[in-house]
Amino acid sequence: MNIPRLWREIRQRYQGIGVECEPCGRVYFPPREVCPHCRRGSIGNLNEYELGGKGKVVTYTQVHEPMEDYKMMVPYIMVIVEMDEDVRMTGQLVDVEYEDVEPGMEVEVTIRRLGEESPSGIIYYGYKFRPTR
Ligand SMILES: [Zn+2]
Repeated sequence: MNIPRLWREIRQRYQGIGVECEPCGRVYFPPREVCPHCRRGSIGNLNEYELGGKGKVVTYTQVHEPMEDYKMMVPYIMVIVEMDEDVRMTGQLVDVEYEDVEPGMEVEVTIRRLGEESPSGIIYYGYKFRPTR
């Protein structure tokens, strides 16, 4: 797989490719098949929509008991972010101390390498959030 295609797939999967409903302009992430507002009117009218990757912290919490995948990173901060497109994403917040996080803080999506599986060499990527200032 070439790099541009790989990068695009990573972005679709992790950075937020949603859909925009043409009749009403609502954006959904993850993508939906039907707009609950327009229902039948939205069928065939949902277009791919790339989120800008910026938003504001709604709530946050510090996690001390790790899930398996996050074993190496305790404690870490999980946030719910209201994206500029009015959809919510959940993810890990990095590059900031827990004490410095506050509701309304402006954050952006960043793609980080999460780990590598041996011996196949599969590399995992995922999105995280970081402060924009
Ligand atoms: Zn709609």
